[in-house]
Amino acid sequence: MVVENIPKMVGMIYAIIAFFILVYLFNRDKFNKKIGYLFLITSTLMGFLVFAPMFPNQLQVILLGNVKQLGAPIPIVILGLVLFVILTFAFGRIFCGYLCPIGALQEIAYIIPIKKLKIKNKTLPIVFRLIFFIAFVVLGVIFSIGILTFFGFYDLFNLNINSIFFYIFSALLLVSIFVYRPFCRFFCPYGALLSLASVKGLFKLQRNVNCVDCKKCEVICPTNEAGRTDLKQECYLCNRCKDVCPVDAIEYVRNNGEEK
Ligand code: SF4
Ligand code: SF4
Repeated sequence: MVVENIPKMVGMIYAIIAFFILVYLFNRDKFNKKIGYLFLITSTLMGFLVFAPMFPNQLQVILLGNVKQLGAPIPIVILGLVLFVILTFAFGRIFCGYLCPIGALQEIAYIIPIKKLKIKNKTLPIVFRLIFFIAFVVLGVIFSIGILTFFGFYDLFNLNINSIFFYIFSALLLVSIFVYRPFCRFFCPYGALLSLASVKGLFKLQRNVNCVDCKKCEVICPTNEAGRTDLKQECYLCNRCKDVCPVDAIEYVRNNGEEK
């Protein structure tokens, strides 16, 4: 379904503009569920129409040296990859949360109201993804194998129903209904980089003095990142913690490193 005539740059420009709109909305406390859905749907459509902004895939293409597949000049793509790492350091994982079509599709799947399976161990997905990242680089650089191809998101967004990989990502989406963002949390190499960038991020969701320690935010958070001292490296800014807070004690503000 991807329309080849539309330049991939459209996806990158969309991501940059949407990123700053979202930062503004979060910071001014104007973000809500409906706005979130709007961005998730738009980003998913961008995936189907333009196959962009698809940074995990572009990272692989650069690693393999298949620059013709980038659909944009290589310096611009590298600039885009680096830019979003810097933006994530400044403002958190807004790209993953709302703009990456792969992440958006999984987020939409998870919205389906059905009993969820929460992975209680916070370290496990992070360590697994780090090991996978090393495998991704080694296989790409030494053996010229693009391991992400086997996940099938290229085939899914291109509606290649004749490819076996189409069904692999479809299965992963099925899992996403029950488990929060399995591809992002266990496999995505670009997500691994963004996760590192957000550890010491400048803007984060933080509790204010209104907090009454009811722990509702911690219970609802699908990535175990809503605790008072959690680093938020796996916070996808889904806003579930903020929505569930009974005393409006969570706000997206500059991280001052102090507990309240
Ligand atoms: S973790 Fe990877 S796949 Fe998930 S949203 Fe971020 S860049 Fe996309
Ligand atoms: S519930 Fe809150 S802390 Fe957890 S991922 Fe969503 S926005 Fe981040």
